[in-house]
Amino acid sequence: MSLIRYIDYGIGNRVEDTIYLNKSLKEYPKLHDAILNHERKHSGKFNINDISLDIRGDELKGMKREYYKFIFSHKNSLVNFLPVMRLDGIWCWDISLVFIWLLLIFEILFIFRFII
Ligand SMILES: [Zn+2]
Repeated sequence: MSLIRYIDYGIGNRVEDTIYLNKSLKEYPKLHDAILNHERKHSGKFNINDISLDIRGDELKGMKREYYKFIFSHKNSLVNFLPVMRLDGIWCWDISLVFIWLLLIFEILFIFRFII
C-alpha cells in the first residue's frame, strides 16, 4: 500500500512507497485518478518497466485534453518535465526523463551538424 502526499508542484511522482501528487489535481478528479493509477504501477525504484510505463502512458489515453489543460493552467506542474526534482527535501532523478532529455540533446546536436 502506498502513501499519497499532496504537494504544490509537479504532476505525479513515485519514490519507493510514497506517491507525490500536485494538490491542484483534486480539481480534476478523472485526471487525478488516472495519474494516481499510473503512479501506483511504477515500482518506486528504477527498472525497465518504469520507462516502458512512461512511454506507453496507457492511463492517460483519452485524457490528453484534460492533461494539457492542467499543465497550462498550473505552471508549477512543469517542473515534472525536468529530469531531477526535489521531493521531501531530497533531489530525486527521474531516469525516464534523463533518457528523454539525452535523446533530445543528441537530436538537437545531430540537427545542428547539418545546419552548420
Ligand atoms: Zn510515470
